[in-house]
Amino acid sequence: MIQPLTAHQICEIINGQVLSGNQDALIHQVAIDSRNILQPYATLFIALKGAKFDGHDFIPTVIEAGIRCFLVKKDFKLNPGIDSEIVFIGADDTLKALQQIAAYQRSLFDGPLVGITGSNGKTIVKEWLGQVLSQQYAVAKSPKSYNSQVGVPLSIFGISPYHQVAVLEAGISQTAEMQKLAAMLKPNLGIFTNIGTAHEEGFESMEQKLSEKAKLFENCQLIIYRKDHQSIHQYLKSQFSDEKLVGWSDYPGADYTFSVKKEQERSKILLLKPDMSIFTFLVPFTDEASLENVRHAITAALVLEMDPKMIQEGLDHLKAVDMRLTLKPGVNACLIIDDTYNNDLAGLRLALDFMAAQRQKKRKILIISDLLQIGNNEAVYQEVARLVDFHEIDKIIAVGSEIEILIKNLGSKGILFKNTDSLLKAIDTRDFENDLILVTGARKFGFESIVDILQQRIHGTTLEINLNSLTHNYNFYKTKLLPMTKVMVMVKAFAYGGGAAEIANHLQQLKADYLAVAYTDEGVALRNEGIKLPIMVLNPVQESFFQLEKFNLEPVVYSPQFFEQLGKYCKSQGSGMKIHLDLDTGMHRLGFEPKHLKRLEELIHEFPDLKIESVYTHLAGADEEEHHNFTLHQLETFLMMSQKLSDKLNYSPLRHALNSAGIVRFPEYQMDMVRLGIGLYGVEVSGKYDAHLRSISTLKTTISQIKRLDLGDTIGYGRKGVMKTDGQIATIAIGYADGYDRRFSNGKGFVEIHGQKAPVIGNVCMDMTMIDITGIDAKEGDEVIIYGPGISLKELANRIGTIPYELLTNISSRVKRVYYLD
Ligand SMILES: *Cc1c(COP(=O)(O)O)cnc(C)c1O
Repeated sequence: MIQPLTAHQICEIINGQVLSGNQDALIHQVAIDSRNILQPYATLFIALKGAKFDGHDFIPTVIEAGIRCFLVKKDFKLNPGIDSEIVFIGADDTLKALQQIAAYQRSLFDGPLVGITGSNGKTIVKEWLGQVLSQQYAVAKSPKSYNSQVGVPLSIFGISPYHQVAVLEAGISQTAEMQKLAAMLKPNLGIFTNIGTAHEEGFESMEQKLSEKAKLFENCQLIIYRKDHQSIHQYLKSQFSDEKLVGWSDYPGADYTFSVKKEQERSKILLLKPDMSIFTFLVPFTDEASLENVRHAITAALVLEMDPKMIQEGLDHLKAVDMRLTLKPGVNACLIIDDTYNNDLAGLRLALDFMAAQRQKKRKILIISDLLQIGNNEAVYQEVARLVDFHEIDKIIAVGSEIEILIKNLGSKGILFKNTDSLLKAIDTRDFENDLILVTGARKFGFESIVDILQQRIHGTTLEINLNSLTHNYNFYKTKLLPMTKVMVMVKAFAYGGGAAEIANHLQQLKADYLAVAYTDEGVALRNEGIKLPIMVLNPVQESFFQLEKFNLEPVVYSPQFFEQLGKYCKSQGSGMKIHLDLDTGMHRLGFEPKHLKRLEELIHEFPDLKIESVYTHLAGADEEEHHNFTLHQLETFLMMSQKLSDKLNYSPLRHALNSAGIVRFPEYQMDMVRLGIGLYGVEVSGKYDAHLRSISTLKTTISQIKRLDLGDTIGYGRKGVMKTDGQIATIAIGYADGYDRRFSNGKGFVEIHGQKAPVIGNVCMDMTMIDITGIDAKEGDEVIIYGPGISLKELANRIGTIPYELLTNISSRVKRVYYLD
């Protein structure tokens, strides 16, 4: 929601020009995504050009959705058929224009605006500070981690006239970005959370990183930071006057001195006030990162003149919880979206958009608590009602008292419970089947317990898939390709272990062109899950011809015999099929060899109902330099063979040869399409661009039991593990039946607990593994990382003489897959 502006005013703000239409049209909303437009007649659609999409391509769809006002690149060619009433505003750079509108909207807000930056903790500090401040003020804050060049403007548009304080975060990944964010945000109060020591891509040195991030504070009245971070302290002192700096520390001599006493499950934070009195805050965690984040939040709340007692009330409901939107398998084939850390409208909007992006199920159900927003209740719930309507939610289960005004108008669609307990008593899991359920509630409603009941109960081992990282990797490969080159993504073997349906669905959102699976069954499963993209089947068999046809799957044809079988089948059915030809240029697995070409031409002629969608070959050694010449030979042979075929056809099939390694090593052979596999899942096998990919999956489990053992005690089957000293071992809930390779036994493998490595001791068992945790501070129930962003799959694979592909695809289906956006 923005303060209303006319098209004419917008033009002035961005220094643009009206290309057509009525300049007096009034705008209340800004949209950059065609999929979530609520009030089309009052929305300005800004066409941005991103790595994935160009917003200009969606203009016809958006016009159909009812939008009457567009901001486009100045040289955008208007279609002459377009209704002349529709407003088109032209700008040199539409992203810059978006930012200018945001800067203008920001200037209309006179409450204090808190701007947060730093290497880590921005989102947590923002959430916690927001929570604390909302005890007393109407707070606007950025949704999730909306802190980028596009995220910041959208966050600013979330500030309404009734808000009293705004808490927004700013994140940058390279130089020259912060200036633009600062020009929009103009924070009154700044928080510098911390600075990472690690080299960050996009920055040359620590000094540069500091100076770039600190640009956010140039016009701040006050800057909050932790004085114990020497480099930050030195830098800020050299750039800003002392009156502006508010340093806090563990030690006396700072503006705020906090000392921490850790207890079992919580900590006491003692604040020494300037008048020498002491106030004690209680917080429900003991880890250093949370303790730092919470002290930033407390300091900011104190600077904003909140009473310590009120601050404590806000802290009471904090928990070091997961703030990510996660998608989990639920009971009775339901899918659960877990958003149990949401308390405002902006967050609800995001969660509903995420819901809309999921596979369709029988019903859409929303379980929601009161929104913890002080301010204009009526307007807030009206907006919720609009959202519920727009997203066609079938059923709303509401908890709380304020939300009654929403439920009153919903008729039989809505049910209201006074509190979470009464909902828990009433819930019967049999009432949910094949539904998509969004569970979203403010912290204090404790909605985790609802998710617990609705989610499928599987043992403690989970594979978490980060969908943002998947998008990142996909875009990385896109940057190596020409814009018109198509991308086929390999989702065979359960999408390399990641879960085919969710990943295929996400790829559909990313507008991938094609999917490929190994077997017909995998393709059928995807169709049953609602996947609409074209699907190629690598290894179909005769028995599956019927299924291929029924589910619109496209088989690979790899031999003259198979061509004939399929051709005859189609003839007998009086139907046709789209097929793909595999040419063997040196892999010697499946495929037509050069000597088959003649026969192939005859077959193509004989069975014209088999339409050749594409012709491809597969490279045997694209990842290794030593096979460079062989690979080139394969590629050239392919070009020659496919040319011969094309000459005989009166249409041109797509040609493709490159797998993930091929894309980075031989981009000049991208032809019409590439076949992306392992790279999407975060492993860059050629080793050329390791640092550019993100790990997408984290395999984790928990400690079931800890034992103290003596020197010489033996562990597990065959007594293969032997204690080399007195010490401690932990038994963790993962074994070879989960896909934890037995070759990791006896120290070959290691896991991570609280960031520390712990080796496997003894043999890996079917469902359990023992690890040596001597010297590591751990307790039963603690989380154990098998692999993830900090543990390289390549290294793990190397240790047992295999390849990352095998580790990824071996994870058993009994391991629960959970998907999230961060
Ligand atoms: C699996 C597969 C790919 C993808 O290979 P990656 O190395 O995972 O990128 C491409 N083409 C074919 C035919 C495949 O079987």
